[in-house]
Amino acid sequence: MNPSEVFEIIEKHTKMMDDSIPLIASENLTSLAVRRCYVSDFGHRYAEGRVGERFYEGCKYIDEIEELALDLTKRIFEAQHANVQPISGVIANIAAFFAITNVGDTIMSISVPCGGHISHDTVSAAGLRGLNVTHYPFDNEAVNIDVDETAKIAREVRPKLFVLGSSLILFRQPVKEIREIADEIGAYVMYDASHVLGLVAGKAFQNPLKEGADVMTGSTHKTFFGPQRAIIVSKEELAEKIDRAVFPGVVSNHHLNTLAGYVVAAMEIIEFGQDYAKQVVRNAKKLAEELYNLGYRVLGEEHGFTETHQVAVDVSDYGGGEKVAKKLEEVGIILNKNLLPWDPIDRSANPSGIRIGVQEITRLGMGEDEMGRLAELIDMTVRERKSFDAIRKEVKEFRRPFRRIKYSFDEREAYRFPELR
Ligand SMILES: *Cc1c(COP(=O)(O)O)cnc(C)c1O
Repeated sequence: MNPSEVFEIIEKHTKMMDDSIPLIASENLTSLAVRRCYVSDFGHRYAEGRVGERFYEGCKYIDEIEELALDLTKRIFEAQHANVQPISGVIANIAAFFAITNVGDTIMSISVPCGGHISHDTVSAAGLRGLNVTHYPFDNEAVNIDVDETAKIAREVRPKLFVLGSSLILFRQPVKEIREIADEIGAYVMYDASHVLGLVAGKAFQNPLKEGADVMTGSTHKTFFGPQRAIIVSKEELAEKIDRAVFPGVVSNHHLNTLAGYVVAAMEIIEFGQDYAKQVVRNAKKLAEELYNLGYRVLGEEHGFTETHQVAVDVSDYGGGEKVAKKLEEVGIILNKNLLPWDPIDRSANPSGIRIGVQEITRLGMGEDEMGRLAELIDMTVRERKSFDAIRKEVKEFRRPFRRIKYSFDEREAYRFPELR
C-alpha cells in the first residue's frame, strides 16, 4: 500500500485545474479560511439533534458553530426559519418534499430539458416521496415558465406544491405569479436556489422568500462560497415539519467540519457578497454578448442573455454539446454539455447545448475585460482555428495571473494558514 499514490493523483488533478479555465456552473472555490475548517477536529465528531438538544456529549462548541450558522443564514436570506443540516442540495429537497407533501400528491416542476433538476422529478427525490410530477409549460424563447398556461393546467391537476428554481437558469422566475395561483388552489411554493444562492445572498437576484415562496432550498457551493452542503429556509409555520424531516428524517450526523466552513463562507458573503454577485452577472452578460458577436446562438437574446452566472449556447451547428465540451476540455476550458428546452430528454448523451458558469473565474478575479479574450479562446477551439496544442498554451497563459481567491478574508489573513498554501 502506498498512500503517496493518492497524493500524486491529487497533485495532478490540482495542477490540471490550475492550468484550466473552470466554467462548470455548479462549482466554485472555497477560500483558505473555509478550507481550514475542513481539516479541523470537527470532521471527526457527531452532533445529532438540534442545538442544545444533542444525543451525545462533547457538543458545546459544535452548538456555538451551528447557532452562528442559523443566525447568519436567517440574516442573509431575511428568513424566519433556517435549517443548516442537509449535507447536499438533493438531501435538502428530499427533506422539503417529506415536510410539505404526502405520498400520491401531484407537484409541478420544470422538466430537465427546460433546466429543471432531476431531484424535482420522479427518477429522483420527487419519485422517492411517491409524488406525481406535472411539468410547467415552458416558453422556449423567453427561457422561462409560461405563467398563463401554467394557471390553466394548475386549475385542472391541482398540484399540492409548485417547485421553482433550475439547474439551467438564466432569468428570474415568476415567483409572485405562481404564488397567486398557489393561493387560489391551496398549494405550497418551494424555490430550489441551488444555483443562484450566492446571487440571492448578494442581492443581485430575486429573493424567492420575499416574493412569496414558502420554502427555499439550496446547495451552498455553487454561487455561494461554502463547502459542499445545503440549507433550507422557510416561513416559521413550517419550521417544525422541516426540522423533523431533516433530523431524524434524512440526516443523522451532518458533517461538522463543512458546517464550520459554511459559517466562514456566510461571513464572506455578508462582507463581499454584493460586490461579487454584481460582478458575476456583469461577467456573464459580457461573455454572452461576446459569443453572440462571434456568431454563436446564445440563448435569451431578447432578454439580455442572462441575469445569473450562466450562459447557454446552442452548439448543434458544431456537432452538439458532447463534441464541443470534449474539444474544449482538450485545451483546458472546462464546462459541460447541456440539454436545451427543445431537446428530447433522451438526447442527454449528446444535447444541443453547452452551459457556461462564470462564478468561479469571477472569484479568481476576472472581470469584463477578460470576457472578450475568453470568448476568443472558446471560439478558436470550437471552430478549430489553431492547433489545440497552441490553444492549450494560450489558455494556460491567460489563466496564470488569476491565482488568489478574491472576495474572501484570505488577502488579509492568509499568513495564518501557511500549511494550506
Ligand atoms: C445542483 C442542484 C441540486 C443538487 O445539489 P447537490 O448539492 O449536488 O445535491 C439540486 N437542485 C438544483 C436546482 C441544482 O442545480
